[in-house]
Amino acid sequence: MSTRNGVNYAPPIDLGGVVLLDTHHEGYDRTIGAFLVPLEGGAFFLVETGPGSTLSRLREGIRTAGFELDGLQKIFVTHIHLDHAGAAGQLSRETGAVVVVHRRGAPHLVDPSRLLASAGRLYGDAMGRLWGDVVPVLEERIEIVEGGETLTVDNRTLRVLYTPGHASHHVCFLLDDGSLFTGDAAAIRLPGSEVIRPAVPPPEIDLELWEMSIDAMRAVGAERLMLTHFGEVTEVDSHLATVPRKNRHWAEEVLNGLHAGDSQEVLEARIVALSRNELVKGGALGDVIARHAVSSDARLTVMGLTRYWRKHHPERIEESTP
Ligand SMILES: [Zn+2]
Repeated sequence: MSTRNGVNYAPPIDLGGVVLLDTHHEGYDRTIGAFLVPLEGGAFFLVETGPGSTLSRLREGIRTAGFELDGLQKIFVTHIHLDHAGAAGQLSRETGAVVVVHRRGAPHLVDPSRLLASAGRLYGDAMGRLWGDVVPVLEERIEIVEGGETLTVDNRTLRVLYTPGHASHHVCFLLDDGSLFTGDAAAIRLPGSEVIRPAVPPPEIDLELWEMSIDAMRAVGAERLMLTHFGEVTEVDSHLATVPRKNRHWAEEVLNGLHAGDSQEVLEARIVALSRNELVKGGALGDVIARHAVSSDARLTVMGLTRYWRKHHPERIEESTP
């Protein structure tokens, strides 16, 4: 990492055929990424854009990787959450690039007002600082997918997998070289630790659907996973097998707290302690723990999992602890 004009700046990471751009969100490197895939003649496409607040760093990363912004051919987003697609509208306006998104996510890119209102309830005054401007995507620049399609961009192809669970409109993209862009469907694993952390914010967590999505992801035989949070994972099968186990473990912890009548604060303390123990046991150092705390905080984890139990299994909340 280097410093330029007083701003910390993490250079692009060459993953062999795919370039990982670091948005350096909130001053932390290696937490939110976007992927650049080179095409012929200086053209490229992006998978994810990062938030609006880090667009200038994304632009700088594109340039440092040796590309000009007007070479952008297409933008693929795994889902519409602001850390994945927040800058898509602005980038699409600047370049004319079409944005590929699941049918259920598309309306919220065209009119982000509901998305912003619900994010506003979660983040309050921090909205602007965290996520920056969110510009609507022009309707004619949206390309809708539902899963099962094979898309071609110049000489490259991507297969779309429908992978709900984290969000009802989540998709993953399998590139022709075996790279599977997983968004949040393969959870969070930040460099500096092997520990996998659930990505379970409100309002749509559905662990049963997620488990089916993991089966679909394991079935395609990917060579490597490309995690938005953050980077390449080559132990594909063991990583994917761990994600549903981790989700369940954290969900049970929240359920135990609900049974015990814990307040929101105490539930959060449970998750902070659980997460910290896992990271420390996994040999993570302070910097990694801090980066994990920003990439998916305990408050949202508790809200997301509580909502999951209330919506899908209210009877489990009522049952007494054995
Ligand atoms: Zn995310």
